[in-house]
Amino acid sequence: MMQQYHGIKKKLPDDVLLFFRLGDFYELFFEDAKEAASILNVALTRRNDVPMCGVPHHAAEGYIGKLVKSGKRVAIAEQTTDPQPGKIVEREVRQVISAGTIDNLNLLDANRPNYLAAVCQSGKAYGLAHLDHSTGEFRLTQFNDRESLVDELNRIAPAETLYPDDQEDEWSAYPGAIAGDGYTFLEATAKDLLCEHFNTQSLDGFGCAQMPAAVGAAGAILHYVKYLLHRTTDHIKKLTSYTQTDFVQIDAASQRNLDLVESRSGNKHTLLHALNRTSTPMGSRLLRHWILHPIDDIDRLMERQDFIAALIEQPFIHEQVRTTLKQIRDIERSTGRLAQGSGNARDLLSLATSLDRIPELKDHLTAINTAHEPKILEELSPRLRDLSELSNHITSALVEEPPASLKDGGLFADGFHEELDTLRAASREGKQWLAELQEAEAERTGIKSLKVKYNAVFGYFIEITKANLANVPDDYVRKQTTANAERFITEELKLMEDKILGADERAKTLEYTLFIELRGSVLAHMDEIQDTAAALAIVDVLSGLAETARAFDYRRPHLTNDDTLTINGGRHPVLDQTLVDEKFVPNDTLLDRDDNLVVLITGPNMAGKSTYIRQVALLTLMAQIGSFIPADEATIGLVDRIFTRVGASDDLARGQSTFMVEMNETSLIINNATSRSLVILDEIGRGTATFDGLSIAWAVAEHLHDIIGARTLFATHYHELTRLSQSRKAVQNCSVAVREWNDRIIFLRKIVQGSANRSYGIQVARLAGLPPEIIHRAKDILAHLETQSATPKARKTAKPEEKNMPSLGLFEE
Ligand code: ADP
Ligand code: MG
Repeated sequence: MMQQYHGIKKKLPDDVLLFFRLGDFYELFFEDAKEAASILNVALTRRNDVPMCGVPHHAAEGYIGKLVKSGKRVAIAEQTTDPQPGKIVEREVRQVISAGTIDNLNLLDANRPNYLAAVCQSGKAYGLAHLDHSTGEFRLTQFNDRESLVDELNRIAPAETLYPDDQEDEWSAYPGAIAGDGYTFLEATAKDLLCEHFNTQSLDGFGCAQMPAAVGAAGAILHYVKYLLHRTTDHIKKLTSYTQTDFVQIDAASQRNLDLVESRSGNKHTLLHALNRTSTPMGSRLLRHWILHPIDDIDRLMERQDFIAALIEQPFIHEQVRTTLKQIRDIERSTGRLAQGSGNARDLLSLATSLDRIPELKDHLTAINTAHEPKILEELSPRLRDLSELSNHITSALVEEPPASLKDGGLFADGFHEELDTLRAASREGKQWLAELQEAEAERTGIKSLKVKYNAVFGYFIEITKANLANVPDDYVRKQTTANAERFITEELKLMEDKILGADERAKTLEYTLFIELRGSVLAHMDEIQDTAAALAIVDVLSGLAETARAFDYRRPHLTNDDTLTINGGRHPVLDQTLVDEKFVPNDTLLDRDDNLVVLITGPNMAGKSTYIRQVALLTLMAQIGSFIPADEATIGLVDRIFTRVGASDDLARGQSTFMVEMNETSLIINNATSRSLVILDEIGRGTATFDGLSIAWAVAEHLHDIIGARTLFATHYHELTRLSQSRKAVQNCSVAVREWNDRIIFLRKIVQGSANRSYGIQVARLAGLPPEIIHRAKDILAHLETQSATPKARKTAKPEEKNMPSLGLFEE
């Protein structure tokens, strides 16, 4: 057996843990056992000096989940032949579970996809493919530079990322990176495999003809899932290609800085959380995708808006739509599980209950006033299939609460299948007969305590306590002696036993076959089910956005293709919902090509600069997923990219100095922004010495204005920068208003024209509780520096210089 173990183990990659089935347990040996025992917190034992540990097979899913979550891959070797005396049971690896291919719904976050990605470089091209194995979603794309690929990788945040083993240096540092066979990434190999899988002559129909590197990545994924993990791929029905220009690019830094789906402070204060009022897991996952992939197709955006408007105007229908949606479960993942063979009768029922609701949902949607008939419904309605025949078939077949196991019977309702009913009746009658036998024998022998019992070794037997052994009749055959009793059988009993057990066994086998048939009838409709779920997700996202708009009084932004951005009474979507002490103060924004291209915002620390500029980015992004926005009125000229930079942001993960990171991110903007982009700069230049920083900030602002011409909001504490407006027509100065009161400041949170005349740092320091001595001393030093930086003439008339003061080297003779 150990030879067999080593044989199987040898064929697996080194880091894969082998679960070796031994009777009712999965056992792990050697290093695997040591590693698993410590992660799972189970006992490590030894036999013949071999370290081992084991988990019961019926509880294995939980243990496997724990190992996979901790980054391991788990191979499951099952027994493939029945145990026979003197013969070794055959075993083989049935499947390997990895972080990117989990299908257990308890281990998956319903609100986000679980991606297995593959990346590779081929010449100048960078290919990316990703598969959500739990739903079958399979997409690919290609980039011209590594940075853009890593950005997209950050957006999709895969649980596992494959790379070709000959590109170790390029990719191995990426979280969850796993080396795959370089050969499988070759375009030709990949093409063959993909064509074979999708049963096509070429890949032309998938729009990826010009993406050789991406095709390589997609092929590598398929190869990995099929041949390394031994997993089913039948539910992967299509391959969708997309390009960078299909979406508004949000690079990794901007995604982080704007707290889109994950918050830097680790709480729920994200745009996703503020907007998410979807009712189904499919909707929730799609909203996340939309937020990370906004679009600039004005027609599609307006179709989304029309639908949201229609729902808001007809609250009764909206309510019905939402009520129906709430009863729909995870259709995509239930189908995915069924396709992979891990789905059980409960998944079938859950699917049926969900599919049952679709006709009702369609009725609600049709009820939307014809005057409003939003165009998007023309596309969506036909995709919402009426599959009630299928769902009725499922619900009538199964009992209401079927067991999780497929092999122990009890799945199908009485009356569904004639033969099953007959077998069940035989078993029932047999058991009735046993009860009667017990009664009759107790009477015949006069032993009141006589019992007919069952165990797995002897089957049915009659048990007589020691005290009554004298009255045992001659026709009883003794089988076993226990501490207090003896066990007997009779010929009659054994005959009946065959009938009962035979019937039970046959019923179980029959139920399993019936289940596979029933599952097959569902899988035959897989395309329709998947497409219905996808259409339903869109309805759900839009209905959720309508709900958020209603609850927080959002308005429909007017969309244009001009380079303008006008917002009146705009609010930060997250703070608007989460501020508790103060009420959020709305603000206006005006950006355009002629006079307001670059707007500099000055004002003291804590005034609200960062909040304001992020708000503008977020409202633009919201408009470009089709959402209404928290503002009284807005005209959004669609943007092709949104860049957000925050000075001196900590990015320790990348192991570069923060200033280096800041400059890398800034150069990415300079190299990629266009006249249609929106650029948000927050305190750029802060990470270095004052004059360096100011000089860089100045030069960057000039470049954005003169060369790129991108709409830019630049918050800065360098109020020297505001002089830029003297030489540049389209540079404007704004500031966040504060009121001074008794040498203190009160934040008004209002953006006003004109620059701040001071930086109020010392007042803010006082607010923050620095002791009065320090505040006084700081004021003296400030006065000194202000004199120093004044003209030489002013300096002559000033107080004699104090020694113990900093000096502005620049002005020294
Ligand atoms: P700055 O970037 O100028 O230092 P922030 O934008 O970080 O200031 O704002 C500081 C705090 O002020 C925020 O955390 C928020 O709580 C509050 N704040 C900002 N803008 C507003 C506003 N418009 N209305 C209400 N509170 C605001
Ligand atoms: Mg700030």
